[in-house]
Amino acid sequence: MNNICYVVAMRAEAEPFIKKYGIKEVEDFFAPLPCQLYEGMVNGMKLSVVLNGQQHGSDLVGCEAASIATMAAIQKLNPDLIINSGTCGAFLTNGAGIADVYIGNRAMFHDRRVPGDDAWSTQSIGNYPVWEGSKQLAEDLGFKTGKVTTGSSLDMQPCDLKMIQENGGELKDMEGAAVGFVCSLFGKPVLYVKSVTDLCDSGAETFEEFSRNLGKACEALKDANERIIEHLSAQR
Ligand code: SAH
Repeated sequence: MNNICYVVAMRAEAEPFIKKYGIKEVEDFFAPLPCQLYEGMVNGMKLSVVLNGQQHGSDLVGCEAASIATMAAIQKLNPDLIINSGTCGAFLTNGAGIADVYIGNRAMFHDRRVPGDDAWSTQSIGNYPVWEGSKQLAEDLGFKTGKVTTGSSLDMQPCDLKMIQENGGELKDMEGAAVGFVCSLFGKPVLYVKSVTDLCDSGAETFEEFSRNLGKACEALKDANERIIEHLSAQR
């Protein structure tokens, strides 16, 4: 890998490692899109971090912004690997804990209910593959692995849970499968690094739990990404 590119939804998720590597913003790189680019060199490898950007004064979370950011990043930077790093919900029943870091082994949508035959449901659920080195990386660095499931809401409706359970989903976010969708179109490998802010089956109010744990989960994400970047650059 000579050129890796992170796609991150929230500034809070990327800030700790932008600071750690001292990478600098390239202003207006994606104009008129709101995505923001931070760029630098780490151990001889080009490191780019693309944030989805903001609208109406808040970070653009969700699938639409993640799709645009991923597409713009691929077209303008042509990285060897896209890394979608961020926070997620997970499940106590799967043994998850707050600030656990997972490597994704697939990515699917959990809130698309499209009637029709198998072809329609296969297409709408997605079930995108990940970079082939993901499993080995998780093993080498001791991370858990799980299936990323993506929807457009922070809360979880019973029909979302049903879809997640029926498909073996373990991590719940708002961007992963959208990034996977775009990567699948371009044939770009994607690595998912997800840190748990909330437990979907804890009974707690999700936004409160998310907000309380965001700082801790983002620190864990930074530590994980440092190790991942070291690992990828050592393999060059
Ligand atoms: N209003 C919130 C916005 C956060 S939305 C705020 O003030 O910060 C949640 C973000 O964290 C999304 O980017 C999503 O990918 C991730 N996330 C964390 N926990 C999640 C969960 N349980 N379900 C869906 N997305 C979650």
